[in-house]
Amino acid sequence: MQDKENMRMDLHMHSSASDGVYSPAQVMQKAHDNGAEVVALTDHDTVAGLDEAREAAARLGMRFINGVELSVTWGGKTVHIVGLGFKRMDLYRELTKTLSDMRDRRARAMAAKFDAMGIYNTYEQAAELSGNKLNLSRRHFAMALVERGTVASEDEAFERYLKDDGPAYVKTSWQSLAQAVSLIRETGGVPVVAHPGRYTYKPPLSTIDMLEEFKALGGEAIEVTTGSHTPGENERYARVAANMGFLASTGSDFHGLKPGRPEPALQEQLPADLPTVLELLDS
Ligand code: AMP
Ligand code: MN
Ligand code: MN
Ligand code: MN
Repeated sequence: MQDKENMRMDLHMHSSASDGVYSPAQVMQKAHDNGAEVVALTDHDTVAGLDEAREAAARLGMRFINGVELSVTWGGKTVHIVGLGFKRMDLYRELTKTLSDMRDRRARAMAAKFDAMGIYNTYEQAAELSGNKLNLSRRHFAMALVERGTVASEDEAFERYLKDDGPAYVKTSWQSLAQAVSLIRETGGVPVVAHPGRYTYKPPLSTIDMLEEFKALGGEAIEVTTGSHTPGENERYARVAANMGFLASTGSDFHGLKPGRPEPALQEQLPADLPTVLELLDS
């Protein structure tokens, strides 16, 4: 058994069960090829990929942790809370039913906005490009716009149309931070704030206020090094974790071959001096 500091971990990855490109088994294979020993699949708002991923990870000899990435609205913006190591699946399946209705209604409303801009049939094309029509995301619309040549890249699709308050954006109220934290705990899991460096609050609100509320709700862990942070943000959140007493988690936030983003398990690993979220997860 290796020291845990030397163990390569990836506790945040996406498959075609949400807005990732590869199947759950393919994602696990990639993580294994890159040297991962501990892995979690964390699709947005669904646990549909976990059985396949768990089997693949077992076959490959990796330790597998159940995961999910829940969409939350806090301070008027979307925050992502990863749930790790839960045992009960039924409550997520119920939530997924509600959320997939919300996502479908939102997708149709986005398509209506594209129609009004003379860009037709985006709903049908996004659904076609998704691996799971019950979990449509803005990313599938970005893929559709790239495929038809309206934009050159997914980033451009977000920049021109899909970003918050962009011309195709449809505001959605996800569950509250308190609801997500209590759902994860009720299922025997550990809530983790995903990529804290990504949220952009305007004063007087700040990400630290959100982390304080998370802590008051019983939250004990945040992601420190992630493929969704810059190197500077990784350093900053290592300090925040130490100062606020959070355990550290890490993940690539892999979705598929996105230029400049790390492949599974190849995100910067955690600094050796930070206690990790593994302390709260059964081995
Ligand atoms: P949704 O949960 O449907 O609102 O979609 C958000 C998803 O879109 C995120 O999980 C990312 O995978 C993706 N996303 C957000 N911003 C960008 C961006 N600038 N470029 C590419 N993908 C993005
Ligand atoms: Mn995503
Ligand atoms: Mn996220
Ligand atoms: Mn993610």
